[in-house]
Amino acid sequence: MLELPEAVTIARQMDQELKSKRIAAIVRGSSPHKFAFYTRPGAAYQWILKGSTLGDSREHGNAILTAVGADHYLVLGGGGERIIFHPNAETLPKKHQLLLQFEDDTYLTVTVSGWGNIMLLQPSELAGHPHVGERRISPISDAYTFAHFQGLFADLKVEDKRSVKYFAISGPGIWGVGNGCLQDILFRAKIHPRRRALDLNAQERQALHAAAREMLTEAAALGGRDCERDLYNQPGGYQRILHSKMVGEPCPECQTPIEKMRYLGGASYFCPACQV
Ligand SMILES: [Zn+2]
Repeated sequence: MLELPEAVTIARQMDQELKSKRIAAIVRGSSPHKFAFYTRPGAAYQWILKGSTLGDSREHGNAILTAVGADHYLVLGGGGERIIFHPNAETLPKKHQLLLQFEDDTYLTVTVSGWGNIMLLQPSELAGHPHVGERRISPISDAYTFAHFQGLFADLKVEDKRSVKYFAISGPGIWGVGNGCLQDILFRAKIHPRRRALDLNAQERQALHAAAREMLTEAAALGGRDCERDLYNQPGGYQRILHSKMVGEPCPECQTPIEKMRYLGGASYFCPACQV
């Protein structure tokens, strides 16, 4: 699943590679996929996209917004989309849910695995959209200070029982972070995913804030995580610390075997000794 480091990477690459390209032809849903989320009927994708020129691309949490024509965004990301640029037709995949052919005979394809967004939205539709929502402060920007992060805890009522995992990926969430990046963020912060968010002391909150910024900044700079692909179908350079193959393997810090638990709709990997 694409998260912030991959959205940053792919948006940067799309901005460089695709800006000013004009769309000559489009194919939508050549391979039907129940969980590819479109926002308009197929005919509308044709008339909005065909003949339009791509503008700026930028990340928006775990999504990528690309300006299309004068008044739409193509919104990709946030799910299991593979977004690939093809310099010619030789590498086109058999199955895809969106194909854009540009006038210079280069291509962009989007193939969904699991579920994914291939949305066309007008700017006014963005803010209230359940998958993308309003623009928030990026955790890798300078504006994401510790004071801002503290403020997120201050919004919780004293009896609030939400865990750190829920706090970090759902409510309020660290923008663009999902269950993937969360594993290494909690490992670096030495915090167990089940800890009650409000029970974190000042030092632990500081550690969580710093770990999130460091992990995300590093992964974005390295072209995303090693389990995901960039616009050129290359794996990211960020080597994950905790993932499925680490279960039972020694913790890189203390040698205790790494454990797995299912928690809040997804696996959590953690060191039972380091993360308390
Ligand atoms: Zn450990």
